[in-house]
Amino acid sequence: AAVCAASVYIVRRRMQSSGKWARVIEILRVLEEDCATPIGKLRQVADAMTVEMHAGLASEGGSKLKMLISYVDNLPSGEEHGFFYALDLGGTNFRVMRVLLGGKQGRVVKQEAKEVSIPPHLMTSGSDELFNFIAEALANFVATEGEDFHLPEGRQRELGFTFSFPVKQTSLSSGTLIKWTKGFSIEDTVGQDVVGALVKAMERVGLDMNVTALVNDTVGTLAGGRYYNPDVVAAVILGTGTNAAYVERAHAIPKWHGLLPKSGEMVINMEWGNFRSSHLPLTEYDHLLDFDSLNPGEQILEKIISGMYLGEILRRVLLKMADEAAFFGDSVPPKLRIPFIIRTPNMSAMHSDTSPDLKVVGSKLKDILEVPTTSLKMRKVVVSLCDIIASRGARLSAAGIYGILKKLGRDAPKDGETQKSVIAMDGGLFEHYTQFSECMESSLKELLGDEASDSVEVIHSNDGSGVGAALLAASHSQYLDDSET
Ligand code: BGC
Ligand code: MG
Repeated sequence: AAVCAASVYIVRRRMQSSGKWARVIEILRVLEEDCATPIGKLRQVADAMTVEMHAGLASEGGSKLKMLISYVDNLPSGEEHGFFYALDLGGTNFRVMRVLLGGKQGRVVKQEAKEVSIPPHLMTSGSDELFNFIAEALANFVATEGEDFHLPEGRQRELGFTFSFPVKQTSLSSGTLIKWTKGFSIEDTVGQDVVGALVKAMERVGLDMNVTALVNDTVGTLAGGRYYNPDVVAAVILGTGTNAAYVERAHAIPKWHGLLPKSGEMVINMEWGNFRSSHLPLTEYDHLLDFDSLNPGEQILEKIISGMYLGEILRRVLLKMADEAAFFGDSVPPKLRIPFIIRTPNMSAMHSDTSPDLKVVGSKLKDILEVPTTSLKMRKVVVSLCDIIASRGARLSAAGIYGILKKLGRDAPKDGETQKSVIAMDGGLFEHYTQFSECMESSLKELLGDEASDSVEVIHSNDGSGVGAALLAASHSQYLDDSET
């Protein structure tokens, strides 16, 4: 645990607690206390997670954890082949891609992708506007298709659609939106079939393509991860939002009334971002952030773990320090009052500043908040805040993973067995915020203990969700039964 939050103690010891600084240190101390995640608490969170997993699997609406059935009962084998499109909508960007799968001839033979940023206003306006924009970008991308991507005569293009929001699937290729999360809020999409919405938009722009698979990004990442590594049992996204999916035994899903799949397995999209429990360490800042958010009362775990919110929590603490302890001098920097102005990548940059005078912290505060000068003492406080906020999120994500491993009976080594459990990870927070991912991994080791740690591995499945969606489209292609295939 020491690796996660070492700097906090240093600041506290070195600072004289008098005048303005006494109040600054007090705010820091209370935050540290409220965010504390000692190992015992992490175990409680993990246990609460497994309890909720059972409840969510038992009945529809049985838990805050929706434990959504993905209709993916077969993960990629490596035999998938052919030419498929994928579309990945989830955060601030969306990606379109095409892949040529080689089957036995060799995995992904060719892959092309294009990233398009979503104009912010489209995240909160109308459903048609958003889906038109997406369909148009997809059509433009299809127009750049080269000869390497050959579509057999008379065939329709096929698409795997990664849609990173909670969806109640009605089949592998259809499902209705339960609610938006992250920065999205478009009322008329809720309750609608998102594939239907996409198909209509594709018709409007004259694009002929079949949506063969609709998957959450966690499910796509699980599929993409399994394609390269047969020991992958779960996938976790730590990005703008956070979530996990894992492979469950079908007979352990009481709410599933369909046929028992041949594989005996079913991938479950947990939607763990919506987890909440009295064991979660929540602060005054979290309560207000939630209150002011687009989705109050929802996605509580997500709001203390994920990239959309970490920088905003930091801003709120700094604002309190500025307000109540004149942290930035006599007046509060006006920019500090602007919600979400401190983005998590900036927080990460400050957190990882190793220069002796914390140059990066100084220049970030200057750039973002227009605070011309800061003392080293102030910059140290900022690093401590980053440390406290990021460590809490990282340790709670480790607790969530540990909860999944417990549910699967993979949290402790079994006698004479050498089963390996691999967790496929993706998302900007995991990929780019080093302190966060290192703390997450060391906390997971701490939870597992030395012996079990050896059988659990965390891997980065880079952009696995896009390839994963294409793979699932391939294994469910409408042309699978064709003799020519
Ligand atoms: C969504 C999930 C998604 C996660 C990561 C959350 O806000 O509810 O469906 O998997 O973000 O993208
Ligand atoms: Mg993503």
